[in-house]
Amino acid sequence: MNTSSANHILQSVFGYDNFRPQQQVIVDHLIAGSDALVLMPTGGGKSLCYQIPAIVRNGVGIVVSPLIALMKDQVDALHQNGVRAAFLNSTLSPDEVREVEDALHRGELDLLYVAPERLMMPRTLDLIEHIPVSLFAIDEAHCVSQWGHDFRPEYVQLSVLHERFPQIPRIALTATADNATRREIIERLALTEARQFINGFDRPNIRYRISDNSSNTREQLLRFIRNEHPGDAGIVYCLSRKRVDNVAKWLTSKGLTALPYHAGLPAQVRQQNQERFLREDEVIIVATIAFGMGIDKPDVRFVAHLNLPKSLEAYYQETGRAGRDNQPANAWMVYGLQDVILLKQMQASSDAPEEIKRIERHKLDTMLGLCELTTCRRQALLRYFGDELEKPCGNCDTCLEPPETWDATATAQKALSCVHRTGQRFGVGYLVDVLLGKENERILRFGHNKASTYGIGSELNQSEWRDLYRQLIARGLLAVDLEGHGGLHLTEESRPVLRGEQPLHLRKFSRKTKAKSRERKASRFTDPKKNDLWQALRNRRQQLADEQGVPAYMIFHDATLAEMLENQPETLTQLSNISGVGKRKLADYGETFLDVLNDYRNPGKNTQSDTEEETLQLFRLGMDAEAIAAQRGLKAITIYNHLAKGIERDEVPLSEVVPLPQHQLEAIRFAIEQYEGGKRLKPVFDALEGEFSYEVLRCVRSDMTR
Ligand code: ADP
Ligand code: ZN
Repeated sequence: MNTSSANHILQSVFGYDNFRPQQQVIVDHLIAGSDALVLMPTGGGKSLCYQIPAIVRNGVGIVVSPLIALMKDQVDALHQNGVRAAFLNSTLSPDEVREVEDALHRGELDLLYVAPERLMMPRTLDLIEHIPVSLFAIDEAHCVSQWGHDFRPEYVQLSVLHERFPQIPRIALTATADNATRREIIERLALTEARQFINGFDRPNIRYRISDNSSNTREQLLRFIRNEHPGDAGIVYCLSRKRVDNVAKWLTSKGLTALPYHAGLPAQVRQQNQERFLREDEVIIVATIAFGMGIDKPDVRFVAHLNLPKSLEAYYQETGRAGRDNQPANAWMVYGLQDVILLKQMQASSDAPEEIKRIERHKLDTMLGLCELTTCRRQALLRYFGDELEKPCGNCDTCLEPPETWDATATAQKALSCVHRTGQRFGVGYLVDVLLGKENERILRFGHNKASTYGIGSELNQSEWRDLYRQLIARGLLAVDLEGHGGLHLTEESRPVLRGEQPLHLRKFSRKTKAKSRERKASRFTDPKKNDLWQALRNRRQQLADEQGVPAYMIFHDATLAEMLENQPETLTQLSNISGVGKRKLADYGETFLDVLNDYRNPGKNTQSDTEEETLQLFRLGMDAEAIAAQRGLKAITIYNHLAKGIERDEVPLSEVVPLPQHQLEAIRFAIEQYEGGKRLKPVFDALEGEFSYEVLRCVRSDMTR
């Protein structure tokens, strides 16, 4: 009985056909009133695990979350689905707090998001003692771990919940717990009795790709974006602020919407750029690692690294921001010799205690190992995080195009002995010159034109030698000096290779294998007509999102639009079968998306203008919008949209559609003018304190653009 009501809510409210396997078990477990600890990768679908039990069970579900900035978005998204939800945190005014509290007392909420410090206030605890509570969900539960980088002292106090409300089920959720953190969560949150639901960390929809920056990095990036991600949202990570600014400017000059984000920008600019990234469809953020914490945008289609991250943890966390909606996404990285040397030097010259430095060195080496790998990258990544993947994944570059290797033993010996013969103090540029037998002033001054390795390297060209040195450093056969001049010296590991005791197989240089194009189709769909429809659906989504001031993905996810495009629903019932279309969204947006699909199917017939024409005719016959809606079986919002078009084309006068006194019309016009001509209607709506409906505002706006 409970299971069936959970399924019913999944379908009617959230518009999904089936639970994912783990979700089903967790939801049942919670509905039955038991505690749970859930480890699920990002994008695994954690939210439904508590949202649905909270709706099914009696009382309000209390969700503890450390990310205040996200609460409003989460609540907005629930409202879009018609779920009764609110949040309590420090951004609310005392009046707003009272409103939420009143709603709680009246039993009008299914979900309440609170910051931990707010929940622990005596006033809040007293409040929830007097109302029915369906469950406590503790999101980002790894924040209780003192060893983690997200530690929140307030989280430790959450064990109080168990003491004060032993009968209320609790669910703790996280995406980032290793065994030690998991034990800490259980202990500190008093979850010893809780059933554990442990899911792997794999993100199968992300395609990992790493290549060396053999050509111009920026050009490589641009080609990647143009070929594989036209019109997509993405994040580009760079190491320095200066690089961020340069790359953002350059991409902009190439016609892309690329915005910089780093700690050196004024807070207001950062805020603005982040906002646009969240709310618009086609924005690329170019950022230092300062960007990303608390970013919950599900449709980030790519994460590009122009520099090497410091560790696999950082790499996995940053790339993990792609494809939270489980749609295909790319984690794309280029790196080069310069990165390796720079990071090694930064580490060597840091003031950290030797013990920390050793750990950091190890982490960087593991990261380099991943880059130079010739086997499945996902297997290696997951193994590092304690997860086994039995077979190669088939969705990383090394799986898709297994790199060729060659026996580099003899060539590597030349490179290593050149280091040795020149005294173990020169950098790669100099060493390569010696190998190639260049006659420059420095070589002559040091007399290395007489060294035994002078001019013995004609089998490779300059960039191939650099490539080889990078691989030798990455494999730990050479180390970078401490003084910061980039001088190389031999390590213990190089001895067996130099002595010929250990063969060395390396990746072939990218130049030789690059002839094969690894570029996918130029745009999302090969059929240009489909591309047009895709764009039209996205434009409609953006328009609705702008009007309400919410991010586009809250209207519908990419996956939902893609399914519309695929299945071409013609009726509301057919549309309701599309994943992600619940009852509320069907009622609010169904008609307007069907219009877009109809236009595409019958461009000649122009059904859009037919249906508009019918509305206008009825209107001229003296019926008002509500009456036309009733007669035609359409929603009033659709009729108003038709009328707004009519106003825009000067076919009906505003005064007849919106019979308001002159001073009120003036007030609306004034507000629209104030906010970018009403591009977004939400601020206009708010400025007028909700006195006029969106339909009325839209009509006045149409009249102004006549
Ligand atoms: P997490 O919090 O684990 O990162 P979310 O709860 O944000 O993941 O869910 C990730 C995505 O998967 C969202 O787009 C969500 O709507 C979608 N999703 C979750 N459960 C299902 C399901 N049963 N069917 C289809 N889509 C789902
Ligand atoms: Zn693979």
